[in-house]
Amino acid sequence: MKSPLENLVILETGAGDRAALGDYQLKKLEETIDYAVENSKFYKKRLKGAYRGRLNTFNDFASLPFTFPIELAQRPYDFLCTSPKYVSRIVTLKTSGTTSADGKRLFFTDNDLNLTVNFFEEGFKAMLSQGDRVMIMMPGETYGSLGDIIKKSLDRLKIESSIYGVLKDCDHAGAFIGDKKINSIVALPVQARFLSRKKKDLFKKHIKKIMLSADYVPETVIKDFSVNCDAKVFTHYGLTETGYGCAVECSHLNGYHIRENDVYLEILDPVTGQVSEDGKWGEIVITTFNREAMPLIRYRTGDYGAYKVNKCKCGTFLKTLERSKGRINNTMLIKNRQVHMSEFDEFFFQYDDLLDYSIKFGDRAVNIKLFLFEDRLDTREMIKEAFENKFKVKAFVESEKNENTPLLPNTMIKRTLT
Ligand SMILES: [Zn+2]
Repeated sequence: MKSPLENLVILETGAGDRAALGDYQLKKLEETIDYAVENSKFYKKRLKGAYRGRLNTFNDFASLPFTFPIELAQRPYDFLCTSPKYVSRIVTLKTSGTTSADGKRLFFTDNDLNLTVNFFEEGFKAMLSQGDRVMIMMPGETYGSLGDIIKKSLDRLKIESSIYGVLKDCDHAGAFIGDKKINSIVALPVQARFLSRKKKDLFKKHIKKIMLSADYVPETVIKDFSVNCDAKVFTHYGLTETGYGCAVECSHLNGYHIRENDVYLEILDPVTGQVSEDGKWGEIVITTFNREAMPLIRYRTGDYGAYKVNKCKCGTFLKTLERSKGRINNTMLIKNRQVHMSEFDEFFFQYDDLLDYSIKFGDRAVNIKLFLFEDRLDTREMIKEAFENKFKVKAFVESEKNENTPLLPNTMIKRTLT
């Protein structure tokens, strides 16, 4: 099945191939710049002198200055392009609590939020069909929250769904699945894994399709769902800056297609700061189209990504993004080597008994806390030994049996090494 997202892109852009989509994007980049320069204090100043009023090529665009997350925290109102009375949702992001970009603020109008509903509507077509019953394990009490947007997109598809909210109690969530005859869930990766461990039989019996939404999903978690739970796993790469939704997998489950009608995505070489060619890993930089409240131009996400060189097997002309590996700076120096958090995740989540973990670098050793399904000494010792062998460093490992409440962050917060 071809990515249903292509239909939306064709409908919104009028483009039927890559070249025509390129023309659309170039025109939209110009339009976005003109709108932002005219209406926001920030871009009026930032692009003064850098933008000459015309983009002939994407290279012209690539010469423009970046926007940094910290700027969204320091002076969010300078980005605002509409009167505040048209803003229907404000999101303040407390990311890790340790970064300089903590407290960045984002504004959305109704139309901005609706663009994401359109995107999710098409994105979910690859995964769901009528008759499915979906549990949305995302915050959804407030207007314009992620859960609310997902629900709206599923309502349009006439697919039954319930906003459950973030996972707090596995018994409660298990009863919810049984009562509502849920067969599909949308969740943060580690929350879904946690529930699948705590309610193994129920999960295996009921849950057939899973959408994992995050900035990064460990491959081992994806594999685990297919092997242990018999569920088909789709992943979605999203961030609040893109109105939550950004790119989603088609039924081939081999990388994301981007909402190219709304987002222009560049990959930046981490060393040179120049735009990389397809196939090279670097920082994901986004520019948002059609946004009324707060368009972003060349915004540095800090996330690690790459375009695939080959076309997706689904046959779409949309580009394919590799599954993201999360934040570039989320690393820990071990024995003169920067180890990325994704490496730790791939290591720890291979253990069936592990529900979650935390890791810190102490005095000459790594301090690890394991949350285990069964707190057994031999499991702890096995993980400790394997960790020390793999990362060539001494580890102090403590563990505890985790009860029904996951320790996980309950929003789109990115997990961080400390
Ligand atoms: Zn595809």
